[in-house]
Amino acid sequence: MKDLTDQKDLTDQKDYKQEDRCTLVLLAAGKGLRMGGDTRKQYMNFKGMPLFAYSLATMDNCGIITDILITVPEGDEEFCREMVEACGLGRKVRKIVSGGKERCFSVHNGLQAIDWPCDYVFIHDSARPFIEEQAIRRLYDEVKTHKACVAGVPSKDTVKIADSEGFVKNTPNRRDVWIIQTPQVFGFEMIRKAYEEMVASYDDLQRKGVIVTDDAMVVEYFTGCKVKLVMASYSNIKVTTPEDLVTVSAYLKENSDE
Ligand code: C5P
Repeated sequence: MKDLTDQKDLTDQKDYKQEDRCTLVLLAAGKGLRMGGDTRKQYMNFKGMPLFAYSLATMDNCGIITDILITVPEGDEEFCREMVEACGLGRKVRKIVSGGKERCFSVHNGLQAIDWPCDYVFIHDSARPFIEEQAIRRLYDEVKTHKACVAGVPSKDTVKIADSEGFVKNTPNRRDVWIIQTPQVFGFEMIRKAYEEMVASYDDLQRKGVIVTDDAMVVEYFTGCKVKLVMASYSNIKVTTPEDLVTVSAYLKENSDE
């Protein structure tokens, strides 16, 4: 396989001028239940900043992202706006809207609320605080050609496909297995339409046992567009359970100026 870590950044070229409008849909509307505790995961404080503000800060600082929309649990809009302003990260934030029952409905709500010029949408889980600017650049370079691309890393582990009885059904070749992350990036009109179709056929998908766990799936199901895999980094972890907090602390310590 091609060495995907060697992707060139067009945006690094001296004469590069960005004309596209790129909106970040930052998802922070989860219940955060798997983390336990009283504070929702996205608002947990790390070194003076709520978790969701980490990736927001990276995106705020990245010239590729022109506009930002944040989804939050219903009723938290004002609370979130205050936190965003307190962190000094409000300059690109155009809207804070309520999310839905599942992640896919939060994305749908976010996409429907975009009423400004938009060429590409970066959909990112705020539960991934350590997204790096280099990955954002790679994704942007690729989406211009492919219209759909997702951040990920090749799997370090062997993966088994299980049958319904908990036995191994088969073993995909590890070279072909990627662990998928966010951002997932798409042409705006394509992803908005695909999500509209997904919502309209949601009951049917449920009956078939299909669970929509990422945005690429929606593109795979409802468009003919192939999704490009783009190398991100192993440090782009998703903070989900209390064990992940150890990794967060270690990463922040390693990257602290103190
Ligand atoms: O729950 P999980 O960690 O898989 O959620 C992934 C991301 O999706 C999180 O950033 C979470 O805030 C967001 N989410 C959402 N709306 C939901 C569920 C999750 O925005 N209903």
